[in-house]
Amino acid sequence: MTKKNLKAVAPEELEPFMLELGLPGFRADQAIHWIYEKHAQSVSEITEFSKDLREKLAQRVYISNLTLLKRQVSEDGTEKFLFELEDGETIESVLIPDSDRLTLCISSQAGCMLGCRFCLTGKKGLRRNLRSHEIVDQILSVNRALHASSDSPDCRVAKGMGQNPAPSKITNIVFMGMGEPLSNFDKVVDALWRIVKLLRISPRRLTLSTAGITPRILELPQKAPMVNLAISLNATTEEVRDYIMPVNKNYPLTTLLSACRRFPLPPRRRLTFEYVLLKGVNDTTEDAKRLIGLLRGIPSKVNLIPLNPFEGSEFQRPEDQNILKFQTILLNEHIAAFIRQSRGRDILAACGQLQARYRV
Ligand code: SF4
Repeated sequence: MTKKNLKAVAPEELEPFMLELGLPGFRADQAIHWIYEKHAQSVSEITEFSKDLREKLAQRVYISNLTLLKRQVSEDGTEKFLFELEDGETIESVLIPDSDRLTLCISSQAGCMLGCRFCLTGKKGLRRNLRSHEIVDQILSVNRALHASSDSPDCRVAKGMGQNPAPSKITNIVFMGMGEPLSNFDKVVDALWRIVKLLRISPRRLTLSTAGITPRILELPQKAPMVNLAISLNATTEEVRDYIMPVNKNYPLTTLLSACRRFPLPPRRRLTFEYVLLKGVNDTTEDAKRLIGLLRGIPSKVNLIPLNPFEGSEFQRPEDQNILKFQTILLNEHIAAFIRQSRGRDILAACGQLQARYRV
């Protein structure tokens, strides 16, 4: 008989499933508690169940886990985790410690089909969509790894690189790793609900970043918890965006911004616009002025991200004075604009650098 993966059963279907196995329904809540809060990786670790019950259950079910293949620590304390999925595909997650938060950047797909020209993940193409439990498992696996290493004297996250120690558990999640989350819509929505309900992380601490799958942007608030939305914009004309982000040919800039205007933002919340600065491509004074016009009427903030070049990249990072000039033009028009220096560049963990390279 094929064993069923407990994590692959939707949480609301776990009680009927336990009844089907001839067990009382409350075993479902206990299993959920042990998997999501106590990080049990196998039925034998659910010690709230008697030994006899664990042995019987293990004949019918199992708990899947990501396999940690590699863990790298950057000079700035950022950590990159390379995971193997059950079918051998690989994905990466990036942990970014700060004094008051511990943010995990997670993947929603193995690879990505959108092919943004400034992104290494896009060069890999799409291998497959992640299942909801594989998305959530990145958080469980990293939390478990943190717990295991928190006593280690050289654990940089727990020790906060000599500054204020970062929290010992993940506090914030960003969907900015490998893949376009809105291209794996149903599984991502399901994962968001699991993160909010089972891991008890507030939607305000979750951010989903999209390259602009316009119809899904408007569907998201109807189906998912009200998470923060970030738009990877990166250009101020259709022509430039068509070139650097081919997705723009299907969902043009004008349509995308019109959807942003209609997005039902809760009071005091803003949309984030990510803008990767590419030397001579989208970093001119005219671009900055056009950007101001495009964002008019949208409660927004802009994250300016100087390119993280990779081997074979056709683009370059702008000079620092040009980055500052671009920011100043936005600030002068009262647009909240921040320069985001990417973390973990030395271990290829920065924005657009993930590729889950292991066997290639
Ligand atoms: S930037 Fe995001 S959407 Fe574009 S190719 Fe990379 S992973 Fe895909």
